[in-house]
Amino acid sequence: MGKVYLVGAGPGDPELLTLKAARLLACANVVLHDSLVSREVLAGISSSADVVDVGKRCGRKLLTQDEINALLVSYAASHEVVVRLKGGDPSIFGRAGEELEALRNARVEFEVVPGVTAALGAAAGAGIPLTDRRVASQVLLSTFSRGLDANAMDWGCLTPATTLVLYMPGPDYAEVARRLAEAGLPADLPCVIVSGASSSQQQLRWSSVGTLSGEERLPAPALMIVGRVASQQMRELGDAFWGAESPGFGPQTASVS
Ligand code: SAH
Repeated sequence: MGKVYLVGAGPGDPELLTLKAARLLACANVVLHDSLVSREVLAGISSSADVVDVGKRCGRKLLTQDEINALLVSYAASHEVVVRLKGGDPSIFGRAGEELEALRNARVEFEVVPGVTAALGAAAGAGIPLTDRRVASQVLLSTFSRGLDANAMDWGCLTPATTLVLYMPGPDYAEVARRLAEAGLPADLPCVIVSGASSSQQQLRWSSVGTLSGEERLPAPALMIVGRVASQQMRELGDAFWGAESPGFGPQTASVS
């Protein structure tokens, strides 16, 4: 029986791989990867490894989650080092839960190797600290629920000092803007769209909840960072900006130091 490593590939730049991830890619017998994993990272895979793309193409899955789970278990029976390579960090919107459960049920040994999640890659690319203590005290990594109840987002913990990182915002920015407004976010709250964070194709668009719907669509993968930290001119913004017209979003002293 081999061992399965759930490895985070980071947001794209191969230099953002952990040393452990790079070592495992170099000695893997088989690598199952998502389409999100960059070509530069895939280039670090041992030339003798079997490489299986289990990702999506044009929104269509190549393999179902159950098929991927079954593949992991069966590869572990015949290969020593099985790497399941996922974009960013495996535990953030990465379906690691289902795969770990399948491995546990099949009594396959596993290890999770964390990676730099896209939120952190994007914040670095935009040059904004997600918890700048002057304006933010917590970070919420979230996405829209696209299930049966499309409004079932648990944003109850959104406060004026929350930085919201929205994964998989989709191409319909008007819908995103509407849902952010419905969640109580004011139109003048800054947001930045980051596409291809950490890659050579990285693009940024500085916007706000109110102007988001008119922004040019950026290519996938992209995410949005919403909150006071997402202002380019945050340093210059006086308390006046967060004045009476944005009830509930007035200046607040962050307690984090
Ligand atoms: N496990 C991954 C997230 C998978 S969900 C992680 O930890 O990063 C896929 C979503 O992640 C994309 O739709 C996009 O919103 C975001 N994403 C992944 N890589 C990105 C990148 N390089 N730049 C911007 N967003 C990215």
